[in-house]
Amino acid sequence: MGGDAAEAGGAGGPNVGGAKRKFGDRVSQSRCRPMRSLGAEQTPPAGEAARARGEWDTVVRERATCRRRRRRRSRPAPTRHMRARAPSPLRTPQNTLPHPLKQQHQQATAVLPRKRFYRTRAHSNPLNAAVGAMRVPAAPPPPERWAAHFPAFFAAHQQQQQGHHPPQPLPEVRFADVGCGFGGLLVRLATLYPDKLALGLELRDKVAAYVRERVLALRHVQRGLLKERGQEEAVAAAAAPAEADPTESPVPGGYENISVLRANAMRHLPNYFRARQLEKLFFCFPDPHFKASNRRRRIVSVPLLAEYAHLVAPGGRVYTITDVPELGAWMRAQLEAHPSFVEVSAEELARDAAANLLPLATEEGQKVARNGGQTFIAVFERV
Ligand code: SAM
Repeated sequence: MGGDAAEAGGAGGPNVGGAKRKFGDRVSQSRCRPMRSLGAEQTPPAGEAARARGEWDTVVRERATCRRRRRRRSRPAPTRHMRARAPSPLRTPQNTLPHPLKQQHQQATAVLPRKRFYRTRAHSNPLNAAVGAMRVPAAPPPPERWAAHFPAFFAAHQQQQQGHHPPQPLPEVRFADVGCGFGGLLVRLATLYPDKLALGLELRDKVAAYVRERVLALRHVQRGLLKERGQEEAVAAAAAPAEADPTESPVPGGYENISVLRANAMRHLPNYFRARQLEKLFFCFPDPHFKASNRRRRIVSVPLLAEYAHLVAPGGRVYTITDVPELGAWMRAQLEAHPSFVEVSAEELARDAAANLLPLATEEGQKVARNGGQTFIAVFERV
């Protein structure tokens, strides 16, 4: 086998020194020529004598070239994604109220991101200060600051305002998906509620970056489709938004009403939203934190519900879903224990389009459904 390899590698010249090459010997298989400048005796010239014969430099040069080629070969080939990746906007100071979508608008392409390029650890500890080490605004930013996240939505609003007296207030984020993961729910909410702004909050930076790219790509495709086919078809698609393929036909809203923020919702929700701003607050398949000592990391708990009660408008709803029976019972018990929330009845729940999305809209939900798992939903209304 070693001989075969040597023969295969021999295209560039004879087997130097006649040494039997081992399988996997990169030099033998390389395009590097085996020290052509050496004499028939194949003994490397050394010192002054070789230098005097003008051979030593050639040898050194050729060896260096081979080493470089070998190193280059052992490096993984850059993927399309690696080549195209721009410096992460997550690390820019704009993260105070990040508007990376604005920065990336010029770079948006119709290519939907691929999850395998955004692999990251399964969990982050939300109580770890280092994990949440991101700049956050000291107070909820005024509505105009959100325009960078939803530029076309705000532009359309401004256009509608022309000649409108008195002017309507600026749009505000009304739906928040806490721990939005890969953004499945956001994408479904976008077409179901095209006139509402929805924001995903995600702790893991790579996952947040994936959602950001996904939204940009969907918007890009939709803008192209809208230009091509016109507004009428978008209106027609509004009749059956769930069936519409976003890459084939225009959908209502064109995904201009959803965005994502890398944030630690356990610490910083009140830094982004003002009192009674939210109409819907989603917790889909939150991390279960099974160990008793880690229960304080659970995102639905009585102390945090006080915060959520402050942010959700009366009549607004908190949606929870999980496939972990113990966590389902825990979330329900926490919500029941809080005086600001009452459970939504089964009949009302059946009429709630957002609640009906929960089991299948998110990536986790789809995984549970594929595996034939059971889900536990609890929806509570802010009194
Ligand atoms: N909701 C998504 C779904 O159903 O597919 C993702 C569920 S995944 C099990 C839980 C997500 O919540 C993870 O992506 C995690 O990074 C995120 N997360 C956990 N704690 C968070 C926090 N304090 N703030 C924001 N996101 C958080």
